[in-house]
Amino acid sequence: MGLTDPRVALDDASSVDSASPVPVSVRPHPRAVPPPEAPGGLEGPLVDRYGRVHDDLRISVTDRCNLRCVYCMPESGMTFLPRAELLTFEEIARLGRVAHALGVTSVRLTGGEPLMRRNLVDLVGRLADVGFADLSLTTNATLLAPLARPLAEAGLSRVNVSCDSLRPERFAAIRRRGELATVLAAMDAAEAAGLAPLKVNVVLLRGENDDEVLDFARFARETGRVVRFIEFMPLDASGDWERDRLVPGAEVAALIDAHYPLVPLGGPHAAPAERFAFADGQGEVGFISSVTQPFCGTCNRLRLTADGAIRNCLFSDDELSVRDVMRAGGSDEAVADVLRAAVGAKHPGHAINEPGFLAPRRSMSMIGG
Ligand code: SAM
Ligand code: SF4
Repeated sequence: MGLTDPRVALDDASSVDSASPVPVSVRPHPRAVPPPEAPGGLEGPLVDRYGRVHDDLRISVTDRCNLRCVYCMPESGMTFLPRAELLTFEEIARLGRVAHALGVTSVRLTGGEPLMRRNLVDLVGRLADVGFADLSLTTNATLLAPLARPLAEAGLSRVNVSCDSLRPERFAAIRRRGELATVLAAMDAAEAAGLAPLKVNVVLLRGENDDEVLDFARFARETGRVVRFIEFMPLDASGDWERDRLVPGAEVAALIDAHYPLVPLGGPHAAPAERFAFADGQGEVGFISSVTQPFCGTCNRLRLTADGAIRNCLFSDDELSVRDVMRAGGSDEAVADVLRAAVGAKHPGHAINEPGFLAPRRSMSMIGG
């Protein structure tokens, strides 16, 4: 099996996939310095200077992937973290316990492709034992079908599956590897295993798959799966992002609404995916319009990269290494201080729409989307 086979799992080797590597990890991470007013200890909640409570943690378990989606990674030339730099399952679970003590209720595992990390079921079990209200996984689903039941039995609540086209040839063109049929079968397997409600992430690219909006709306209505349209963000490793290539969420919503009337769904979890139900009650769609309608004002997220950096924003290069603290023998309180410091340093919003915006050094698959 070569790397072009999406079934191959490669989490245990430092690898270079071909010539001209794309630079990755930013090391060493800056030292964590808790703000003087930080309370210390293992008490939450994690509230930033703008009153935003952080209760949602994205954990990247690997930066590797078996696909090469055009909006995420170049066809060749990616380099990946050496295994020694990855957090171990013990370290991730420890961070999870500290985050839970500080008020984090929701965890999502991501990557890279999280199912490329060997024994992920074991990690899911460890995190489920911590007692999060919601424990989910974002995946390209090429490796999901046989793992769906073990993951559910280990305590996973639900999955988000990325699928950018319902047409096999186009799916292959956008994701470059893997097959649509495998992904659709995995969605069935996930639901059969009780991993529901299932969400389907669709990145729309102008002129490439934006003629499938209504197909996806019908798919949502027919299957009950929540289709979420994501704007192309300047986080591709190739640096090919152009504003003209993204399809604004408002445009997509208007198109769907004209054919299948939508009603907004409110509630505390309305952001960041602006949620809408079909007015006739047959299903739901969502819009993650991070570029045209940033939802920073209600952002409740922290991210942990596969090599143990805490990031408080997808679009900021600010990171604090929790791995260094743990490997230097730091206490749980010291780990908590890193989380507090990251939250304390959070900016009010990202600057994508400001002149001079520079894409962050780490791309989506290196941060964890
Ligand atoms: N590999 C898994 C997957 O594809 O679902 C999880 C990681 S992936 C980075 C998480 C999500 O980010 C996916 O839904 C993917 O489509 C999305 N994504 C990746 N690059 C993106 C970009 N440049 N702009 C917007 N979304 C992106
Ligand atoms: Fe891999 Fe997900 Fe990036 Fe596609 S979007 S290349 S599946 S990490």
